[in-house]
Amino acid sequence: MAKRDYYEVLGLQKGASEDEIKKAYRKLAVKYHPDRNPDDKEAAEKFREATEAYEVLSDEKKRPLYDQYGFAGVDGMDQGGGAQYSHAFHDFSDLFGGMGGGFGDIFDNLFGGGGRSSGSARRSGPTEGASLRYDLNISFKDAVFGTKNEIHFRHNETCTSCKGTGCAPGASRKTCPTCNGMGQVRRSAGFFAVQQTCPDCGGAGTKIDKPCKDCGGRGIQEKSKKMTLTIPAGVDNGKRIAIPHQGDAGANGGPSGDLVVILHVEDHPYFERDGQDLYCAIPVSFTQATLGCDISLQSLDGKSINVKVPAGIANGKLLRIKGEGVPFTNSTRRGDLYVKIMVQIPSHISNSQRELLQKYMELENPTKTPDLIKLSALDA
Ligand SMILES: [Zn+2]
Ligand SMILES: [Zn+2]
Repeated sequence: MAKRDYYEVLGLQKGASEDEIKKAYRKLAVKYHPDRNPDDKEAAEKFREATEAYEVLSDEKKRPLYDQYGFAGVDGMDQGGGAQYSHAFHDFSDLFGGMGGGFGDIFDNLFGGGGRSSGSARRSGPTEGASLRYDLNISFKDAVFGTKNEIHFRHNETCTSCKGTGCAPGASRKTCPTCNGMGQVRRSAGFFAVQQTCPDCGGAGTKIDKPCKDCGGRGIQEKSKKMTLTIPAGVDNGKRIAIPHQGDAGANGGPSGDLVVILHVEDHPYFERDGQDLYCAIPVSFTQATLGCDISLQSLDGKSINVKVPAGIANGKLLRIKGEGVPFTNSTRRGDLYVKIMVQIPSHISNSQRELLQKYMELENPTKTPDLIKLSALDA
C-alpha cells in the first residue's frame, strides 16, 4: 500500500501551524487509540500512521525536509525502531495534559520505557538547538535577478544573565533527589510497574536550587531578530538557504541550529521560466508575420530588446534571444529568452482594409479543396 502524505493523514493543508498539527493529532490519537479499539487492526494502523505523521510534522528539523523532499527527506533519520516515537512521545504530557492524565499512563504501557529514556538521555548531554524554518515569498523578477530581503524571526538564544546555566548568581545545579539523577521514576499502575519522567526535575536528572530570574532556569530566552538576507540571482522556487547557527540555541553547551529560509517564488503575469531560460509571448499582425518586421519588447528587467521577426514566420514559432534569460548563480552567464510569436487574426476590419484584402485574395487564389494537414506536424 502506498504511503499517504503526512498532511493528508492529519487532514491538514501544507502550511498548517504547529498548533493545528498538535490538535489534529490529538483528535486522531484519542479516536484510534488501541485501548479504545481493542483488536481493531484498522484503528491500530490509523493510530500508527497518525503518530508517524505527527512525529515528523511536529519536528522543526524533519518538517522542512519532508516538505521539500517528501518521504525521502525523512526516511532513515531515526536509528533503530525504538527511538522512532521518542519525539512524539515527549510531547504527550503536553498533548494530553488537559485530559485528566489517563493517557500518559497508557502511552507508557504501550511503548515501554524506551522512548522516554532516549529522550531524557538526550536532554542531559549537549544538544544541538532546533533548526528553524522561515518561509519567504519573493517576486519572479527578484528570483531571476537576485535581491536583498530583511527578515524578522524569533529564536531562542542562550540566556545572557546566566550564560545558559539556568542558575541564579551563586546558585548551582544539583542532582535531583527524587530520581537520584536518573530522570525517571518507577511507579506501579495496576499490575505493572511503569517508568515515568521524573515530575520533580522534568527528566533532566538535575535541579537548580535557585533558578535564573531572566530565563526561569531554562538557560535560554526567546528573542526577536532581524537580518538582511542576500538572495543570489537565478534562484528557483523551493530553494533552501541555510543560515548557520541562527536557529535555536543548543542546550548544555550544544551548538545552535540553523535558520532555513525556503523561497517561494510568485508567478509573473507575462514571463515563465524553465531552468535558466525565460519564455514570453508577443502578438504580431498577420501582415507583420507575412512581411517580417522589427519589434521592440520590454524584457523582465525593463530594458528594450529588439526582436527581428523574419518574413513568413509561422504562428507559435519561438524566437531565441541569446543571453537575456536567467543568470546562472554566481556567474555572469545567462540563459536565453524565448519569444513566442502569436499571429493575430483581426476580428474587425475597416471597409478599405476589406477591399484591399479582397484584392489580395484574388491574387492569392487559395485552393478550395485543400489536402489535410497531419496533426503531428502541428506540434513541431
Ligand atoms: Zn538565565
Ligand atoms: Zn528528578
